[in-house]
Amino acid sequence: MQKATKTPAVVVSIHDVSPVTWSRTQEILGELGGCGLDAVSLLVIPDHHGKGRISDCAGFGEWLSGRVCKGDEVVQHGYFHRRQSRLGDGFAMRIVTESYTAGEGEFFDCQYEEAREMLRRGREELAACGVEAKGFIAPAWLLGSHAEEAVRDEGFDYTTRIGMVRDFKSARDFSSRSLVWSVRAGWRRVCSLAWNRFLAEATSGSLLCRIGIHPPDWEHGAIRRQILSLTRTMLAGRRAMTYQQWVTLQRNDP
Ligand SMILES: [Zn+2]
Repeated sequence: MQKATKTPAVVVSIHDVSPVTWSRTQEILGELGGCGLDAVSLLVIPDHHGKGRISDCAGFGEWLSGRVCKGDEVVQHGYFHRRQSRLGDGFAMRIVTESYTAGEGEFFDCQYEEAREMLRRGREELAACGVEAKGFIAPAWLLGSHAEEAVRDEGFDYTTRIGMVRDFKSARDFSSRSLVWSVRAGWRRVCSLAWNRFLAEATSGSLLCRIGIHPPDWEHGAIRRQILSLTRTMLAGRRAMTYQQWVTLQRNDP
């Protein structure tokens, strides 16, 4: 595990972008833009819970490619994203051990060929929308070893987990803990606010900070306000970039 070096950066990502969450995503992007954020990694689900492929949704591809033209990045995020309930509590390992059940970890327990097939189909969906993803991030960061091999062999440049960014091309891992909120229950929201306040402070000296936003976060005022406030604070001392830009920067300046 190598430490990130050079320009202090912040990567803000929006998870679970799809026609299902499209309007909420636009709302989030609007408010982030108001903070001065001009580069976001959009984690796009090719067929969210099987409710419809992105290529079948009128206007979605146009909107997505427009966002890429303005500086955002598209990251492939699973295929169906089968897990219904929210993960990414900041306690991913606990979720794996305590509440993981068969069929929920789309890219966690699947075999190599199955993963490759989903990756290819996802890539085709994105291509039909006029965009290409250099990165792949598994739902809830749950990427099993076979699936990871498939991601690498499909030619993706990088992946991330809750605690690191892995560049396949340079074979380097960068330790970096993502801020992420859990909003499913009141007590989780209270814990999330305290945890992320602590984590933001604890990682304030890190050269890469990560903010991971899920669309349901925006339904809760206190969570939304904290995310926007932390974004503004980080933008004051850091350069905003996408994962793709950040990984490329590390390669060019090892
Ligand atoms: Zn997700």
